[in-house]
Amino acid sequence: MAYIKINKENFYYNLNQIALKTGSKEKIALVLKDNAYGHGLRLMATLASEFGIKHAVVRKTSEADKIEAFFETILVLGDNIVKHEKYHYTINSLAEIDKAQAGAKVELKVDTGMHRNGIALYEIGEALTAIVQKGLQLVGIMTHYRSADELGSELFWQQKQFEDVKEKVRKAGFVNVRMHSHNSAAILRSKTFSEDLVRVGIGAYGYNELPHPFDDTLLKPVLSLYAKKVSTRILTAGQRVGYGGDYTAVKDMTLSTYDIGYGDGWRRGDTAKAFITAEGLPILGRVSMDFISLESQKEEICVMDDAQEAAKQLNTITYEVLCTLDEKLERRIV
Ligand SMILES: *Cc1c(COP(=O)(O)O)cnc(C)c1O
Repeated sequence: MAYIKINKENFYYNLNQIALKTGSKEKIALVLKDNAYGHGLRLMATLASEFGIKHAVVRKTSEADKIEAFFETILVLGDNIVKHEKYHYTINSLAEIDKAQAGAKVELKVDTGMHRNGIALYEIGEALTAIVQKGLQLVGIMTHYRSADELGSELFWQQKQFEDVKEKVRKAGFVNVRMHSHNSAAILRSKTFSEDLVRVGIGAYGYNELPHPFDDTLLKPVLSLYAKKVSTRILTAGQRVGYGGDYTAVKDMTLSTYDIGYGDGWRRGDTAKAFITAEGLPILGRVSMDFISLESQKEEICVMDDAQEAAKQLNTITYEVLCTLDEKLERRIV
């Protein structure tokens, strides 16, 4: 069966690189949404906790339930707000405050320019009052940057807005409220860091998504994808392989079928432009639901060991190559 290798050493190396930026690993909240970016939720939670990471971020309560034992706090980005010892719930709108369960721990998300989620700047006063009236416990204030990974001054403009928000919250008398705004791109870009937490996803998994001039922090991919040989056959010149017979053997050649396909979340890509595997072999013909063909007789091949490079070939982004990998693929720690 096709499977995924998780390189623990690289994962810890990346977390160390990020800790150098934040000043301590206590300030890292590891983002584990979408099955830990395809790496495996429970497995990555276990490794992170062994490393000493104390905080996690997920999308739903159901994900938090699976990793509750490993962290001191788990921030849930978008779900019904209920009272829980460890879980912090994100408030994305005034309406959510209304529906929240009294006593719940909440973190107020402020829209400083992304314009997707969060309370508008002019609504902050109203939100803070509503939080108190509703008997919620405000434990965090956060924002999300829309273009931390792009050149230009937008990041600084959003940061300035967020500074004003922090000031408002402090003036309103709230204490023990953690303040955070950085994702991977923002922390990799920052020369100094003074907030309470970073929410790091893609960087921890090994990818620096910044355009070149910005930052040369070296990170190492954690995940690699392997497929096993199913069968081998000899094709004579002119014979064609796979659906539609898109690939025609140019000479007599020995092909093998390997057990990975789009059913496993490996992207189908564009047949006109063969995907080149980590070992330099082109995928011949179409990717089908469960299989690919390569000119190889090896028992096992490495399909991909660098999602950023794969994303370029597949005309998408690193995140998507990782997140689509099926949960049912076995994950092995190396
Ligand atoms: C996904 C997410 C992150 C992590 O972003 P990366 O670019 O993967 O570091 C941080 N904050 C929020 C609110 C997110 O949704």
